[in-house]
Amino acid sequence: MKIHEYQAKEILKKYNIPIQEGYAIENSADIDSTIKKVQADFNCEAVIVKAQIHAGGRGKGGGVKYCPTFEDAQGAANTILGMNLITHQTGPEGKMVNKILITEALDIEKEYYFAITFDRSKNSDVFIVSSEGGVDIEEVAENNPDQIIKAWIDDSPNALESAVKEIITSLSLEEFENVEQMFKDLYKCYLESDCSLLEINPLVSTTSNEIIALDAKVDIDSNSLFRHPEIAAYHDKSEEDPLELKAAEYGLNYIKLDGNVGCMVNGAGLAMATMDIVKHCGGEPANFLDVGGAANVETIKNGFKIILSDKNVKSILINIFGGIVRCDRVANGVIQAVKELDLDVVVVVRLQGTNAKLAKKILDESDIELISAETINEAATKAVEMIK
Ligand code: GDP
Ligand code: MN
Repeated sequence: MKIHEYQAKEILKKYNIPIQEGYAIENSADIDSTIKKVQADFNCEAVIVKAQIHAGGRGKGGGVKYCPTFEDAQGAANTILGMNLITHQTGPEGKMVNKILITEALDIEKEYYFAITFDRSKNSDVFIVSSEGGVDIEEVAENNPDQIIKAWIDDSPNALESAVKEIITSLSLEEFENVEQMFKDLYKCYLESDCSLLEINPLVSTTSNEIIALDAKVDIDSNSLFRHPEIAAYHDKSEEDPLELKAAEYGLNYIKLDGNVGCMVNGAGLAMATMDIVKHCGGEPANFLDVGGAANVETIKNGFKIILSDKNVKSILINIFGGIVRCDRVANGVIQAVKELDLDVVVVVRLQGTNAKLAKKILDESDIELISAETINEAATKAVEMIK
C-alpha cells in the first residue's frame, strides 16, 4: 500500500527521524491560516507547498513550490490544491491533487538519496544511498550507476552495524554525530512498519549542519496491514484505480494493465504464465486476475464484471486449472455469467484438470458463443487472433 509523504513523515517522526515539518490540508479555506501557523510554529518566513499524490517527480512537474513570502505561498497553495498534476510517474493523464502539505523551507547544503528495501537476489534488506540525491536520481542511476551505493543487511550478527558504517563513509557524513543512530532508527522503522520500501529523496544536510528528511516515500506490505491499524487508516481510496478497488471488494486479486486481452485465471502463478503466453502470441494482456483456488459461479461472474468494466478489452481468455475446483462447475459458472452479463466480446475458455472432459462437453453443447480450447497455446492464440 502506498501512503502520502505527510503520512510517511508522521511514521518517521515516531522513530525520532528529523523531518521537514509542516501541516497537510485538503480545504482551500484552510490555506491562509495554515501558512501562518507553519510560519509561526517553525519560525520561518519562506515555506514550501507540496502536492500530496501517490507519485514522485512532483518537483519537476510543478507540484513543489518554494515560496519566500506569505503571498507567494497563498498563490502556490491555491494553484496546486485541486490541480491535475502530471509527472513522469503519473502517466500522461496526471493525478488530481486533493491534499497539499505546507512545510517550513530549509536552507539546503547538500541533497542525498537514501532508501531501504528488500533485495530478493541476496535474500536480505539493502540500504541504497547516493551523495547525488534529489530530483535527478533516475538520471544518476542511468548514467553514473557507480554513484549509487548499496550495503546489504544480511542475518549475520553485526550486519546492521557494518552496513550503517559503510553508508556513512560512502556519503562522507562522519561529522554528523546523530546520523549513525538515525540510520539505525530508519532501519527499525522499516522493519517494524513492514515497509517494502522506505525512501528519502532527498535526505538533506542544511546550512545549519543538520540532517533532515525532506521528502519521504513509504510503501507498506499490504499483507501486514492487519497488524498496523494506524497505518491501514492511511489508505487513501481516491488515489487508487477504481477497478482495482472494486476487485478488492469482491476479494479478487486484480491489477489493471494497458492491453486488450482480458485474462481470468485461477492461481497467481498460472495468471502470470497466462499473461506471458498472451504476449508470446503477439497480444497484450489487459489485466492480471487471479480468481482464487476455489472459483465458483459468483467469483467468475464478478471477474467478468471487472474485466468488462475496462473498455479496452476486446477478448477474454479464461484459463482455469481444476484442482480443488471442478471444471464442470466452472463451465456452468461461465455459461451463467455470460448469459446474465450479455457480453459483446469474444470469450475463449480453456479448462484443464478435474472433470475437464465433462466441462468441454457442457461448453460445446451450450447455446452461447464461446470458443473452447484444449491447450494454453491454442487458447492464447485464439484470444489474440480474434481481436485482429
Ligand atoms: P519530489 O519531486 O516529488 O521528489 O518532491 P521533493 O519533496 O523531493 O521535492 C523536490 C525538490 O524540491 C527537492 O529535491 C528540493 O530540491 C526542493 N525542495 C523541497 N523542499 C525544499 C526546501 O525546504 N528548501 C529548498 N531549498 N528546496 C526544497
Ligand atoms: Mn523527492
